[in-house]
Amino acid sequence: MQLHTEAPTWYEVLGVAQSASRDEVKAAFRQAALRMHPDKTVGGGDSHGSSSAAGGSAGSKYLLVQQAWEVLQDAASRAAYDRQLALSAAAAQVHINETVLLGEMEQEDVEGQRCRSWRCRCGGSFLLLAEDAAAVAAVAGELAVPCSTCSLHIRVVTVPGPSGQR
Ligand SMILES: [Zn+2]
Repeated sequence: MQLHTEAPTWYEVLGVAQSASRDEVKAAFRQAALRMHPDKTVGGGDSHGSSSAAGGSAGSKYLLVQQAWEVLQDAASRAAYDRQLALSAAAAQVHINETVLLGEMEQEDVEGQRCRSWRCRCGGSFLLLAEDAAAVAAVAGELAVPCSTCSLHIRVVTVPGPSGQR
């Protein structure tokens, strides 16, 4: 086991597995919130007026916990976040050769399926199914696409298109 993640994921903030159910996430959030709530961490005893002195780091941890809960409590935003995690995990493992705009890729039919393609310097090509492209576009995200013949990948990004609609 090696840990090479830099920023903690929302799951790590709450201390739950990525496969945790919503109830488990909720329970972890409540526990963490109880532990870190600024009101609690002031500790017992007399309440001096100088509240913010000790509460600083605990308070920001509490904010993180709250942010994590906001993302993970909602099925749609959690799914979007999971996709992001998967993409960045995939991107960390592959050699990204270049970043390509989806709109700049060629449209091509491969075995009856509409694809976007991009030529690799090895002579092979990066192929993206039109439906995958649409899925990426729907979340305004990015996708690592492998070359058909070598180990290079490109990162396909979608652009809202400043000169497009509206
Ligand atoms: Zn290639």
